[in-house]
Amino acid sequence: MCRLPLALPQPTGYDMTEKKTVEVATLGAPRIGRHRELKFALESYWSGKSSAEDLLETARTLRAQRWQEQRDRGVTRIPSNDFSLYDHVLDTAVMVGAVPPAYGWQGGPVSLDTYFAMARGSQKGPEAGCSHGSHGGHGVTAMEMTKWFDTNYHYMVPELAVEQEFNLTSAKPVEEFLEAKALGIHTRPVILGPVTFLKLAKPQEDGFDPLVLLPKLLPVYEEVLQHLKEAGADWVQIDEPALALDLVPNERDALKFACAKLAAAAPGLKLMLATYFGELGDNLETALALPVAGLHLDLVRAPQQLDAVLSTACKDLVLSLGVIDGRNIWRADLPVILKRLEAAASTREAGIEVAPSCSLLHVPIDLDLETALDADVKSWLAFAAQKMDELSLLARALNEGRDAVAAELAASVEAIAARVSSAKVHDPVVASRVAAVTPDMANRKRPFGKRADLQRAKLGLPAFPTTTIGSFPQTAEVRKARAAHAKGAMSPADYEAFLQRETADAIRWQEEIGLDALVHGEFERNDMVQYFGEKLSGFAFTKNAWVQSYGSRYVRPPVIYGDVSRPEPMTVGWWRYAQSLTDRPVKGMLTGPVTILNWSFVRDDLPRSQVCRQIALAIRDEVADLEKAGAAMIQIDEAALREGLPLRRSDWKTYLDWAVDCFRLTASGVEDATQIHTHMCYSEFNDIIDAIAAMDADVISIETSRSRMELLDAFRSYKYPNEIGPGVYDIHSPRVPEVKEMADLLGLARQRLADTQIWINPDCGLKTRKWEEVRPALVNMVTAARQLRAAA
Ligand code: GLN
Ligand code: ZN
Repeated sequence: MCRLPLALPQPTGYDMTEKKTVEVATLGAPRIGRHRELKFALESYWSGKSSAEDLLETARTLRAQRWQEQRDRGVTRIPSNDFSLYDHVLDTAVMVGAVPPAYGWQGGPVSLDTYFAMARGSQKGPEAGCSHGSHGGHGVTAMEMTKWFDTNYHYMVPELAVEQEFNLTSAKPVEEFLEAKALGIHTRPVILGPVTFLKLAKPQEDGFDPLVLLPKLLPVYEEVLQHLKEAGADWVQIDEPALALDLVPNERDALKFACAKLAAAAPGLKLMLATYFGELGDNLETALALPVAGLHLDLVRAPQQLDAVLSTACKDLVLSLGVIDGRNIWRADLPVILKRLEAAASTREAGIEVAPSCSLLHVPIDLDLETALDADVKSWLAFAAQKMDELSLLARALNEGRDAVAAELAASVEAIAARVSSAKVHDPVVASRVAAVTPDMANRKRPFGKRADLQRAKLGLPAFPTTTIGSFPQTAEVRKARAAHAKGAMSPADYEAFLQRETADAIRWQEEIGLDALVHGEFERNDMVQYFGEKLSGFAFTKNAWVQSYGSRYVRPPVIYGDVSRPEPMTVGWWRYAQSLTDRPVKGMLTGPVTILNWSFVRDDLPRSQVCRQIALAIRDEVADLEKAGAAMIQIDEAALREGLPLRRSDWKTYLDWAVDCFRLTASGVEDATQIHTHMCYSEFNDIIDAIAAMDADVISIETSRSRMELLDAFRSYKYPNEIGPGVYDIHSPRVPEVKEMADLLGLARQRLADTQIWINPDCGLKTRKWEEVRPALVNMVTAARQLRAAA
């Protein structure tokens, strides 16, 4: 809402004396602590080893540290309320009193135990004490969790009822503002916006859109803003990342309505509306018309939108320019960014802020903690702390002139130049291999039907063949041996012998219970991506670069910094050993290129599709070597294929085209009699079934037990021709499924698929389970298969 006509003459030239100071924002900082203090404090509290007060004290210390660090590094718009004990979406649900009835909340402040029950389930739910046989007093299950936009951060999905009432039940935003104030730090509180909150929520009853609850929700937000104003806040950051999604008119109207209400809630309090994770695109007009004092733009994902914003935004709108990548870990090309910022600043009367593209929650804390990283690679990186430095440097250059930071700018230029020309990054052999890829390399020789005949003849498997997804329990002994080996306390020979014994036991046991297609068990693997990354060129691994995945679970994604190649076979030895112990087929077990890509920090000097293609060629070599060694079945896991989907529907096809192409490139170098499997857990398939079919895997295993085979509807309506292993065993739970349960699920599968298509397997790998659970569950699974064969 412009208060000045747009046509007013713009000031010409860049006169620093008249300019407002350029501010430095972070939008949010990592919460977990330099040494994962939050994780350890949470786990200690959950296991009863420490008190709530201990946990809250750790949290307070962490908040103080991160405020002070931001201040010391030159951040001037320091966020508060971006901290969370578990998840900021859960915090928001709690703040507005949206606690589902199952948690037994009676109103008033939500206790720590109720909060964690929502996050993780609880042993002592409301019905604690009553006994329902062996499940007695098992408490409540956690709320659902899902991916936060296209990041690897997961949030707790708010659950809202048609008759939902909202009440302000938490003073967290105000308390944290005051906590910082007491330390002498003036912060800009962050609140998840009401429209994004409702859009992410799931309705408790079918067929209603939580957005209709907006008028009831807004008074709570207004109250929060009033309290913040009273406490002394002058700005509040309202996050509405939904603006980067495809929105319907009704949702855009909701944003306008909400912003108008919130902007008027506390006169004098200014709102910085933060959008991130993508281009505003067709929501740009809406965003620019919102009656807010500031707007944050993601200019890393969508640099092109700056021009349109500069030419149409009201003069008095403060722009927060997200120029430093909040989703990746590369040092920025500061002079290039600075040039754009200078141009932008010269046209803005209201002033600008420099910021990361999104909250720094999604990058590791501090590069200085990496003492073992290759020095060159390290010099190309920037984690949250370094990104704050980059931001304040940019602001100083704008406020004081480039000369004031000449040395730092030169260092940035030097690092970028070194990376561009480094032999560690560029491998001419990889480049020429990628250039030589032809379309037929991504095609099997014959169509599926013909291949299936050849494979059946070669493998001689029974109807409804049984298999597992790859990993067997990573027991305490396995983890202990790995740690000892890593520390040098166990010799490589002893470690190898230990892993061989585990593998041999697993093979013998699988034969004994009568599984048809065996796996070696993956005991030698720490993680399905790291294992391969450590053997491929072009990958680096960090020691402390943790990023929150959800709650107290953090991941350390590999860093793909250079051209990817495979110096030598990675899995053939283990496959060969396992196969030497049995006459039944053992599956070769690989992670696919798209999953490796999507679970890594990826170099930003090549398109992701190109990096993926390099990985595809490397894994293709492994597929070829497995086949040469005699593998008749090779599984290429693509658990994360769906995760890579762009936020906007219009971008899906481009992604799926190259992702599927990379899978096919990996899989298609083999003879038609060699059976290619793939596995994709936690996926929905309805809207990507064409792409799944285009992958043309001979067998795909998927996670279907919890949806009771509903996911198969997509395959049925598509008339998907290839073979499918719908999971009949929910591996996320320690529960051992009965034969009848699995038989029932198979019945449901048979309503949707032809018998000749069906394989029988668990939902996913079994590495997180105990042998005591896995053994009876798989015995039951094989029994269910035998019964089915006898009856079919
Ligand atoms: N083969 C892997 C395993 O069994 C697959 C895991 C996954 O897709 N998440 O653990
Ligand atoms: Zn899986």
